Amino acid sequence: MSANPADAHPHRPVEVELVLRDAAAALAGATGTEAVLEAADRALAALTLPDCRYKVRIRVAEDKAPPADLVPIDVPAPDAESVGVLLVDQDTAARSELSLPLQILSALAAQAVERICLADELQRYRSLHEMEALMERICDAVLIVDAGHRIRYASPSARTVFGTSALQDRDLLAFVPAEQRPAAGSLLRHVRSGAAGTEPGHADWTIEAADGRTPTVEVTCTTQQPADPTGTVTVTLHDVTAQRRLEHELTESMFHDTLTGLPNRALFAERTEHALATSSGLTAAIILDLDDFGSINDTFGHAVGDEVLRSAGRRVAEAIGPDNVAARSGGDEFAALIHDAGTPEDIAAIAEHLSRLLAEPVRTSGGTVVVSGASIGAATTADTGSAHELLRNANLALREAKSAGVRQCRHYEQSMADRIAQPQLHSALAAAVDDGSLLLEYQPIVALGTGRTVGFEALLRWQHPVRGRLYPGEFIALAEDCGLIVPIGEWVLATATAQAQRWPASVRGNAPYLSVNVSAHQFRSDGFLDTVGRLLAGTELPAHRLVLEITESQLLPDDDKVWGALAHLRGSGIRIAIDDFGTGYSALGYLRQIPLDIVKLDRSFARGLTTSRRQRDLMQGTVTLIRTLGLDVVAEGIETEHQRELSATVGCTYGQGYLFATPMPESGVADWLAQAGAASSAPPVGGRR
Ligand code: C2E
Ligand code: MG
Ligand code: MG
Repeated sequence: MSANPADAHPHRPVEVELVLRDAAAALAGATGTEAVLEAADRALAALTLPDCRYKVRIRVAEDKAPPADLVPIDVPAPDAESVGVLLVDQDTAARSELSLPLQILSALAAQAVERICLADELQRYRSLHEMEALMERICDAVLIVDAGHRIRYASPSARTVFGTSALQDRDLLAFVPAEQRPAAGSLLRHVRSGAAGTEPGHADWTIEAADGRTPTVEVTCTTQQPADPTGTVTVTLHDVTAQRRLEHELTESMFHDTLTGLPNRALFAERTEHALATSSGLTAAIILDLDDFGSINDTFGHAVGDEVLRSAGRRVAEAIGPDNVAARSGGDEFAALIHDAGTPEDIAAIAEHLSRLLAEPVRTSGGTVVVSGASIGAATTADTGSAHELLRNANLALREAKSAGVRQCRHYEQSMADRIAQPQLHSALAAAVDDGSLLLEYQPIVALGTGRTVGFEALLRWQHPVRGRLYPGEFIALAEDCGLIVPIGEWVLATATAQAQRWPASVRGNAPYLSVNVSAHQFRSDGFLDTVGRLLAGTELPAHRLVLEITESQLLPDDDKVWGALAHLRGSGIRIAIDDFGTGYSALGYLRQIPLDIVKLDRSFARGLTTSRRQRDLMQGTVTLIRTLGLDVVAEGIETEHQRELSATVGCTYGQGYLFATPMPESGVADWLAQAGAASSAPPVGGRR
């Protein structure tokens, strides 16, 4: 591509700057390489002399050598394979005043090309995923199995699963590994018995195929009629090997810290839970907080700070050995879980050893860094059988250690818990439901594509008579511990449903939905389902306008009461959201089993989106997977325009956060809806708290 501009060719700095600024704007908006070429071409025409010869090209791997009489301007971009290149004639290249503008233009063009390539890649990833899903659906294997589990019919596609087409009269369970056989048999019997009605039964099985492969299949069993007298069952097998592997990999990376490679806080909590459920010996939790770490970042910079953290992670992991669990539980905080911890003296010795190790100087690329060491808190199962309390106790001990100065170790004692117990707070909270000091604020949830407000989340506040306004972080845990969460939760539901019933429909659509946080204690309490039914009937709020949120970490796999309640509520048209997803430890595959409609990604996701490309790819994969399960995704904690844009790019449907609005009093909702309804695309921006 070349051009000979006949008109003015600015050389004064201010004009050059204007040309570059225009080019930057055009390149930032370019959605294809054609647009990049055009923008670069236009800028070159304005920068160079009328008789200058130049070319703008996108360099690709197999690109031809540039014409001999043109000089390539190197492009200072991170990925040399895919960047653009400007070619100009010798005279122009020799003009020193053009050298810097040309370099800048090259860099801008390269950045634009890189961004466009990334977007294409993501698009390809998405279509590939959809194509794979389609192929998998088409390739489902269908079997008809008799009362003795013998295969009476196998569709041609069954060959791809079983590695053979000789399936007639074979025992289906002989293809299932011995340890899965009892469960597989009971699924077939359950469906055959008619106990499931015509509802299909689902499970994941491994198939030991004739050609040695072991694909994972999602099995669906149905009968034509309940309790079919012939005992015939139709079994559909859907190969989900790749999907389960991807789910596993994503889950793994979601629960590891990218800097140190250690498990993160959520996984550490899960490992603690598991250890307590399975071990009868003494288990210890040790939490370590590096002293004065902030000053290392300030003095040596973040790169050296990161090296110090990596080294601390390695030291903790090596000191406790591979049989125990080391984790990075926060910025400069590490944790260790010691199985079969021996005696309290043994724990004290381990803590002392860790303390010595973490005080040793660290060799980094910026030189040897002298560190202050760490404060350490330890607790054991001698004081509690609950994982939650074990970690709380270790944290209390850490708090005491920190307040005693640097490099202190403390072991948990009951007196530490007594010091923070809040008897006055408890009695004031008990009175709060009746004395009118509880109130609700509402925060909009917006569609990221259109900016339209689709719902509001009700957030509880307590106007404490002495301490002023308190937020849920300061009293919900207390309410849960002492059972007050049930009456308080009922007050929240009653108040919010009555208020939401009065919200107007927006100009362009339906009235917004109401999202209410519900604690697992409430789901477990007797009469909760009746309460919800009664409140909906009383306020005449349609069930489809109510969403109940349950926090991921409160949703335990074997809590039948909660699961039953969720299924029942969904059956009546209420939607269920899993809240703060990513802070508990749920494998992604687990989402498939929960009666669920919406996943709210914890705000650490929005933050993670802007940290690194790898993190963004991970989130893209996670969101794609959630959406293939037919669930809506809300990104929480969106604070910046950049986070909003990236959340939409990775496929989140909805967003919530200070960028759109901080939680507002009920009296503000109608005004907000009127304003948001009038806005054409972007939502109005609220103030920050
Ligand atoms: P949540 O359900 O995840 O609610 C979102 C929290 O994030 C709210 O804090 C909200 O003010 C805050 N937030 C919203 N946008 C942003 C943002 O852009 N950046 C940041 N940093 N934060 C943002 P809040 O109101 O303090 O509530 C905290 C938690 O308390 C809630 O988390 C929820 O789990 C719980 N909670 C609130 N109301 C109730 C309730 O009525 N019942 C129960 N059981 N729990 C409640
Ligand atoms: Mg919530
Ligand atoms: Mg949340």
